[in-house]
Amino acid sequence: MHFTIKPVSYHCNLACDYCFYLPKGQLLPPGPKVMPEAVLETLVREYIAACDSDTVYFTWQGGEPLLAGLDFYRKAFALQAKYAAQWGKKVENAVQTNGTLLNEEWCELLAQHQVLLGVSIDGPQELHDAWRKTRSGQGSFAAVMAGIEQLKRHHIPFNTLTCINAVNYREPLKVYRFLKDLGSTYWQFSEVVETMPEHDDMSRPLASYQVKPFALPHDAYGQFMLPLFKQWVRHDIGKIVVRQFESLIACVLGLGHHSCVWEGCCPDNFVLEANGDIYECDQTVYPRYKLGNIMALTSDLASLHAQQLCAAKQALCAECQACPYLPLCHGGCVKHRIDRGTGAAQSYFCAGYREFFAGITPYLNVMVQLVEQQVPYTAIKGLVDQIEAALQ
Ligand code: SF4
Ligand code: SF4
Repeated sequence: MHFTIKPVSYHCNLACDYCFYLPKGQLLPPGPKVMPEAVLETLVREYIAACDSDTVYFTWQGGEPLLAGLDFYRKAFALQAKYAAQWGKKVENAVQTNGTLLNEEWCELLAQHQVLLGVSIDGPQELHDAWRKTRSGQGSFAAVMAGIEQLKRHHIPFNTLTCINAVNYREPLKVYRFLKDLGSTYWQFSEVVETMPEHDDMSRPLASYQVKPFALPHDAYGQFMLPLFKQWVRHDIGKIVVRQFESLIACVLGLGHHSCVWEGCCPDNFVLEANGDIYECDQTVYPRYKLGNIMALTSDLASLHAQQLCAAKQALCAECQACPYLPLCHGGCVKHRIDRGTGAAQSYFCAGYREFFAGITPYLNVMVQLVEQQVPYTAIKGLVDQIEAALQ
């Protein structure tokens, strides 16, 4: 079980064009702008009690989670210390931020509590500013970079989250070089698609709504990720962690996925809204996926499960069931499933996934062979010329 906590719900100081959370303002019932202390304390107490692991991971996300203010987090860290001591557990915190509010005071607090920062950045300025904008429509790149400089000055480690969209997918190597030069050593990528009108059931026919213009084209995932993979496997495997690549490697080595998008079942990765409402997943904060309110639960948090999503994920169309890449892909994220004219819900990104999986399979096969010979899979770095010559 894991909780992603939304201390300010959908509120944000930016207004990125593709944000899937800002529109929740029209969908969710009116609630507090910042999570009330009673909700915070109940979460910390119940979550630490219900987790069966020795370390309890808190992920703070938004909107922009730093809008909750320094005192909110001081209170949260104090509560964590109190209840973790009670249960003999450790606590780790991660904050996913747009980076623009980071200053001396924030960095001191975050460093003091060893908080891991995830900064959302889509590449160099011309790519980042295409969609990631301020409320007045200006690019946010300069403010994000100023925040990252603060993190570097305070030696706070940070990850990056890059949304693959209609603009930056054309420039995979530019994005690669940028992230590497930035000094991030843990990269996550998220493929973007949203629809108009927004709805909670992507299995409806595509003809009944439109894909928004910022979406990554349905067949472009491989066009972006494959050049990135080839660069990484040749130069940076073992030095830079790319979550999606490591997830696929773990999968073929029989260790299970790290990315829920390609897992066989949606894990219990809940969202806690500022008003205490719990949803099955961050991507599905819609009334039908609400599990209850933390202030009114009659059983402990461990009894909650993402049952609806897991059932939806396992309901695979005929194409997926017959697909050679099913063990890697499991039909993709429920949120991305769309009926593109076949009469069945299938990942909007299927064509792009197929191209990517086909392109990396020869490399994955070599990694499996290496591990079978007790050699670390990172040794593939020295074999890339050979693999690519054999593919000519
Ligand atoms: S690649 Fe396409 S057909 Fe294959 S499992 Fe994934 S979504 Fe289904
Ligand atoms: S709905 Fe998508 S993002 Fe949410 S847990 Fe399932 S696969 Fe992951």
